[in-house]
Amino acid sequence: MREFGAFDYIIVGAGSAGCVLANRLSADGQYKVLLLEAGGEDSNPWIHIPLGYGKLFVDPKVNWMFQTTPQPGLNDRRISQPRGKVLGGSSSINGLVYVRGQKEDFDAWRRLGNVGWSHDDVLPYFRKAEDQARGADAFHGQGGPLPVSDQAEPHPLCDAFIAAAQEAGHPRNDDFNGATQEGAGYYQTTSRRGLRASSAVAYLRPARRRSNLTVVTRAHATGLVLEGRRAVGVEWRRDRELARATAGGEVILAAGAIGSPQLLQLSGIGPGDLLTAYGVRVIHDLPGVGADLQDHLQVRMVLRCAQPITFNDDMRSPWRMAGVGLKFALQRRGPLTVSAGYAGAFLKTDPAVALPDTQIHFINFSTTKMGDKLHAFSGFTASSCQLRPESRGTLKIVSPDPFTPPAIDPNYLATETDRRVTVGGLKVLRDIMRQPAMLPFAESEVEPGLDCASDDQLLAYCRERGSTIYHPTCTARMGSDPGAVVDKRLKVHGIAGLRVVDGSIMPSVLSGNTHAGIVMIAEKAADMILEDARAV
Ligand SMILES: Cc1cc2nc3c(=O)[nH]c(=O)nc-3n(C[C@H](O)[C@H](O)[C@H](O)COP(=O)(O)OP(=O)(O)OC[C@H]3O[C@@H](n4cnc5c(N)ncnc54)[C@H](O)[C@@H]3O)c2cc1C
Repeated sequence: MREFGAFDYIIVGAGSAGCVLANRLSADGQYKVLLLEAGGEDSNPWIHIPLGYGKLFVDPKVNWMFQTTPQPGLNDRRISQPRGKVLGGSSSINGLVYVRGQKEDFDAWRRLGNVGWSHDDVLPYFRKAEDQARGADAFHGQGGPLPVSDQAEPHPLCDAFIAAAQEAGHPRNDDFNGATQEGAGYYQTTSRRGLRASSAVAYLRPARRRSNLTVVTRAHATGLVLEGRRAVGVEWRRDRELARATAGGEVILAAGAIGSPQLLQLSGIGPGDLLTAYGVRVIHDLPGVGADLQDHLQVRMVLRCAQPITFNDDMRSPWRMAGVGLKFALQRRGPLTVSAGYAGAFLKTDPAVALPDTQIHFINFSTTKMGDKLHAFSGFTASSCQLRPESRGTLKIVSPDPFTPPAIDPNYLATETDRRVTVGGLKVLRDIMRQPAMLPFAESEVEPGLDCASDDQLLAYCRERGSTIYHPTCTARMGSDPGAVVDKRLKVHGIAGLRVVDGSIMPSVLSGNTHAGIVMIAEKAADMILEDARAV
């Protein structure tokens, strides 16, 4: 075992959260920080070209490419669960959509007893992180590390979708992260001048030359070093070599909603019976580790377009593709700059509900499944996802071997509400597609197809074709009840010197995409860690 040395802070995982922590904790030069990342450098050019995410779904060099367990709610299908395995983590392979969630999400976290996490409390951290291209206002910040930009240019199909949503009675909304989330409009993205701004680009790059920050890539953490109930270091494997470093201050797990609970369980912190079943010595019986997994289920609708203006059409023509490449190279515009949602909407499936319960991602191309080849016809896709699922699943080790992926069970569509709202989302979407503004474009519905009409048929379609929108969270959730894993300062209950700072800590999944919220969590955590360090 190689002794790598002593640090003040060891951060495991250089993803959305880990890169923020590495930057903030090393900023004043006072603390020695070690950042461990299982993946490699973010040198693959497709990481930096926004539309390149389509290629990264199926690239094991940058993606853990997990699979869920067979899902009873989805006809026992296993669902692909991509996660970034590279500097930047999932923010290097994600769809770039910048959405924070609803104000009420954070107020609900606060109502659970998590003092310091209401919307008023967290808004300053969203603003601190942000470099908003439109400038600062009451909701947005400017000059922060994370660039947030408008789409490079509008698209006639997206314009039609937004107009059709208005015709269907939904408001237009040009800022989903402003005063209200409800309505249809263009998404903003985490990008600058047409290039992806992952956490690695936004936060790690500017910090990389600091002499008090050490970054080790291809370092797969295999367990925590514990002295009784105190975390004092981390062990990892890099190629064939085993190594260990010690942390005089804290160990911070930022390995994501899959990696962090897995590492806790492998280290003897988790449900006692599960650990015992796999021969892991129980250090602290903490039943919430890996419990309460939430994810957003996505159900896609594919339409045939009456005009050859989709990205499918560009891809079919070598001339058009050459134009697309040239436009990107010269102007940083065109299809290659587009995020996984070009336009979108936050809608109510029932006018009686208080808040939008469904999110739409609208994109000007179509495939059978993400990562597949585009269809040979002119096509576009609109997907819907229920924003606040009730279903909760689990994350469990299936072996004491740190290289064996854990069992990921999101337990999709387990409740009546989730089934009803998911079907409702498709119905609202279909209503929009039938409005006059879509008529010049929406030639026919390819999937699910108009013969899929009744609620039962739509539910059967959701079960057969539904998949994730990549937001697994809540596997080490914050709270003070017996099922919680971390407290309101993100310290692991019952273990000293250890925090979890990533998507795992959400008490409930946010009503939207998760990257922006996780960056906020890490910004707030960095402040709390430094505050605690000053207090000793
Ligand atoms: C395909 C895809 C599309 C998405 N689209 C969007 C979107 O458009 N907008 C949005 O807001 N969100 C999106 N998301 C979700 C969002 O990107 C994630 O929720 C977020 O990046 C997770 O942040 P994290 O810090 O919790 O974990 P990650 O960013 O996943 O970081 C965890 C890091 O820890 C490393 N790690 C794990 N285990 C170990 C170990 N044992 N040792 C060392 N390192 C380890 C991983 O390699 C990774 O780098 C998407 C996600 C995916 C996968």
